[in-house]
Amino acid sequence: MKRFLLYFFAISVCTLVLPRLPRAFSEEEPEDMIHVLQSADGTVYELSVEDYVLGVMQSAGFDYGDETMKAIAVALRSSVKYCETFHPVHQNAAVCDDPDCCAAFCTDVFSEKAIRAVAETAGKILLYGGSPAACPTCEDAGTRTESCEALYGVPLPYLVSVAELYPGAPEVITAAGSSVLALFGDPGAQGEPTFACDRSGRVREVWLGEQTIDGQAFASAIGLPSLLFTAESDGETFTFTCYGVGDGVGLSRKGAAAMEDNGFSWREILAFYFRGTEIASFL
Ligand SMILES: [Zn+2]
Repeated sequence: MKRFLLYFFAISVCTLVLPRLPRAFSEEEPEDMIHVLQSADGTVYELSVEDYVLGVMQSAGFDYGDETMKAIAVALRSSVKYCETFHPVHQNAAVCDDPDCCAAFCTDVFSEKAIRAVAETAGKILLYGGSPAACPTCEDAGTRTESCEALYGVPLPYLVSVAELYPGAPEVITAAGSSVLALFGDPGAQGEPTFACDRSGRVREVWLGEQTIDGQAFASAIGLPSLLFTAESDGETFTFTCYGVGDGVGLSRKGAAAMEDNGFSWREILAFYFRGTEIASFL
């Protein structure tokens, strides 16, 4: 579900007569069906939301405690209902099965843990202002999550940056000063780069003299796991102290697991990451 937020203004025209995939999980009413584009051949299928959520969780290999798994299931279900209702990623389907676009999903073998998480939250989604909420999850937000506005330029009041309750230890990565300065395209580059951060502390740009490097390009070149890092230099070596993995938007799965370890329920985890939302059922 990486890119669906990029399609906020897409318009869906669902006029096809759609075949149905075998339903692996539930036999609920037609209202829980979504349209899924099979990327291999362009076919659009109808699939139950419950089967889709279960398939995505299984395909991603999520293996957390029960409360975290249930929170993830509700977040996924909310996002797909959001796409189906407002902003389908594809012209005639809410989502597709391409992991580089939406998310891969299995349709056959499922873990007991995933089945339990989906079954025990069946039909439950998050609403904001009475409408389904877009609820992405990320691997590890480090010390605080990123806002939707900072990453996508779209402000969503329930998808703001929040400080993690139980942040993990940072990862320290070093790089030779010469290799860092070489990134600026000037063999004789000298001096101390300036790291320009957004409100969550993520480095969005790195400046050196007249040169500017995009934060993501800088992190990728150095091999930093996220944009949430600080840098120190002793003149010879840069030391980067890095927090989290990936973009950090939405529910941090590692952060949620730590909340569960400290007694938080799936409802409390969702309320923490998706501010001002309420749990409802569409079944
Ligand atoms: Zn897609």
